[in-house]
Amino acid sequence: MGIAGIDFVDLQYIDLNGFLRSVTVPYKSYVEKVKGFVGAFDGSSVEGFQPINKSDMFLKADEKTYSVLPWNEKKARVLTEIYDFYGKRYQKDPRYIASLVTNYIKEQGFSPLVGTEIEFFLFSSVSIDIENPIRGLGYSLSSIEQPWDIDTLTLRTKKAYHHAEPNDKLAKTREDIINSFEKMGYGFEASHHEVAVSQNEVSVKAGDPLFVADEVITFKYVARNVAIQNNLIPVFMPKPLFGDNGSGLHFHLSLWDLDMKKNLFLDETSNELSQLARYFIGGILHHGRSLAALVAPTTNSYHRLVPGYEAPVYLVWGHSNRSAAIRIPATAGKKNLTRIEFRSPDPTCNPYLAISATLLAGLDGIKKKIDPGDPYELDVYEMPKEKLKGNIATLPKSLDEALEELESDNEYLQPVFSMELLNSYIEIKRNESDMIRMMPNPYEIYMYLNL
Ligand code: GLN
Ligand code: MG
Ligand code: MG
Ligand code: MG
Repeated sequence: MGIAGIDFVDLQYIDLNGFLRSVTVPYKSYVEKVKGFVGAFDGSSVEGFQPINKSDMFLKADEKTYSVLPWNEKKARVLTEIYDFYGKRYQKDPRYIASLVTNYIKEQGFSPLVGTEIEFFLFSSVSIDIENPIRGLGYSLSSIEQPWDIDTLTLRTKKAYHHAEPNDKLAKTREDIINSFEKMGYGFEASHHEVAVSQNEVSVKAGDPLFVADEVITFKYVARNVAIQNNLIPVFMPKPLFGDNGSGLHFHLSLWDLDMKKNLFLDETSNELSQLARYFIGGILHHGRSLAALVAPTTNSYHRLVPGYEAPVYLVWGHSNRSAAIRIPATAGKKNLTRIEFRSPDPTCNPYLAISATLLAGLDGIKKKIDPGDPYELDVYEMPKEKLKGNIATLPKSLDEALEELESDNEYLQPVFSMELLNSYIEIKRNESDMIRMMPNPYEIYMYLNL
């Protein structure tokens, strides 16, 4: 057994897809090496990282993320920084991107403050039957809340917002997840049943881009470990259920002065959103189509971005408007809470890349003084088609479309993202999208089998 009763330390890093990867070392050797490289790995086995002839990579502990695992007190985990072949900080390390973006924003005289709400499902079983897509929809999901099957689902959709116990049968598991999450040094603001059957939300503490992205990754990791003890399976894909709400990962963003004393998104004379905030919104809306490839990065993401489910479709902004891509939340007079909410992101994004890219889009809006025009205060889903045509940009309808946008619109990312990273990212995502495009869809079988 190691010192302090700890035997093992899991060294964790994040790949371009936003997957958490982990390698275990003895506690003793971790402690001995903690100031230097604590681990090494094969960068050619991580999609999008390194070619085979330059595959040696190193890990350095980010000590402030060290924590004993609440579900296994003999083991700890630590998030790491990736170093390349030459011993230099690796420029495709998503955690590096998130720290670079903060530096870049500070050089412009601002500090970013980021918050997020994590939505996800808890299912009691998930079975995938790719071999036989004719049965059901190729997969089936079941809920402990109401035993339903896919055929009866439509009877009960969109009704579960803020359910109380005992109707909310997921509260205990959410609380178990949050308890472990807090023991690991993170915090939550609110937790509740969401609108869809089996759907949850936990909003987490605000912070800088690296901290918040670490929080999202850690939350998913904790949820996966803890929910399983209650025989539940956390699912972060944005749209697991047809006909019910999907899961978003909304970003709440504001810029402050360098001392974090003054919220620059508030104009104190008018008590309205500042011109700086308006330009920031302008930048996000302007780059909203290419940003989609990073914030809504799976083919499944585009099943979520459709009218009628509180997810955005049009690149407009509004106050209290949940059909717009950017909402300005009401603050009930609390000036420091003035912020914008960007609603396109979903929990399959790589939070380091997605948060960084969104901030860079906003900064580009400030640099180029892109005014977002008037806020749209009506339900955009109901907007007449003629009014929309040519006037209002829509989000891409597929991952493919989003990737095309990212290929042609990425200059705003380049102060922080290298072209090498972007090209690797686009290649990974293209393969993913091609795979799905080549695969007959179970619903096509239903539609066309007898045609
Ligand atoms: N689930 C919705 C989405 O997909 C958001 C619903 C809400 O938080 N009001 O973004
Ligand atoms: Mg919320
Ligand atoms: Mg929500
Ligand atoms: Mg929200």
